[in-house]
Amino acid sequence: MMDESATWYLDHAATTTLRPEARAAMVEAMDAANGNASGTHAVARAARNLLEEARERAAAVLGARHPSDIIFTAGGTESDNLAVVGAALAAGRGRIVVSAIEHKAVLGAAHSLERFDYPVSYAFPDARGVVRPSALEGLIDGDTIVVSVMAANNEVGVVQPVAQIAELVRSKAPRAVIHTDAVQAFVGLTVTMESTDADLIALSAHKFGGPKGVGLLAIRPGTRLDPILHGGGQEAGRRSGTSNVAGVVGMVAAMEAAVRDRRRFDTEVRGERDGFEARLGELLPDVVVNGRDIDRLAHFSHVRFPRVRSDTLLILLDRAGVYAAAGSACQSGAVEPSHVLTAMGMSPEHASECVRFTFGWDTSPGQGRLAADVVASVVKGL
Ligand code: PLP
Repeated sequence: MMDESATWYLDHAATTTLRPEARAAMVEAMDAANGNASGTHAVARAARNLLEEARERAAAVLGARHPSDIIFTAGGTESDNLAVVGAALAAGRGRIVVSAIEHKAVLGAAHSLERFDYPVSYAFPDARGVVRPSALEGLIDGDTIVVSVMAANNEVGVVQPVAQIAELVRSKAPRAVIHTDAVQAFVGLTVTMESTDADLIALSAHKFGGPKGVGLLAIRPGTRLDPILHGGGQEAGRRSGTSNVAGVVGMVAAMEAAVRDRRRFDTEVRGERDGFEARLGELLPDVVVNGRDIDRLAHFSHVRFPRVRSDTLLILLDRAGVYAAAGSACQSGAVEPSHVLTAMGMSPEHASECVRFTFGWDTSPGQGRLAADVVASVVKGL
């Protein structure tokens, strides 16, 4: 018997549940240090001490050389914009190269530079969603100033060979600043300056159990970056705006908790995801799991339901208590197929049949198979 009142939150790529460590750290910070960290008096200093301690800890997690290599921001979108636009402005003229499957935060930043006459090239993934170094080979040269390839994609969850791409960029485009958006990857993979070999790494707290509206950009020493937000000169002049101390403290607590939890996450959450896919395959033999046979994030399941439109399915799943997502965007009533899936060469029709289910640190054992039962019964009822 199915429990009619049960629900399954399978949209952890959209946002995760706040980890208890992050909540506790934030409450403590809000009580203990409500000052403006830029001030000079004791109340301000208490806030600044917390901010700087958080910076040291974030630097340690990411293997940054120095705490000042961490710039706190208001989330992944801002970190990506700061990376792409800030590095381009600092470099002067030259080509921007981004993968075609980047989040809109990177693509939009690149488009905005295009309007100011920066040439932009797009590196396409193969049919399975991997942006191979060979896809960049013909696009980069000595005039390239920024290269941005995400650590793992936010729709299909495919892990990208960022370190190999960085190696190629360093040999062919020595001026280029290498940015990686690790917003989705961090919760499940080791992400450090060394592991990615990138010059810039963007993170967003709410994707790994931290609060929303806070993120960071880690920067390799010597990387030139202009600010995009101007004002009071916080973050060593690289990002103005009053510091969100409690948010930063919560983010760093979540970072540390996520790192401690990664091994368990990789086995248990992967187990739930695999159980979900196995059960779904038993009940609906014609479903297609995208990216199944390649390196993808342990908590991602991207499924195509042949002849079922994802927008209709999502409404029915919502009613049945299964909360998932699709990459298609609905603008003025027309559903646009996902730019990620079309870049992978999927037809618009197939792209409109895909749903993303993403599991999280708090998905409890057995939920994957139970959720698959509900999904299958909804699909069969269509
Ligand atoms: N980059 C990727 C890969 C994402 O998945 C997201 C959010 O979905 C972002 C950037 C934007 O992050 P934020 O929501 O913190 O602005």
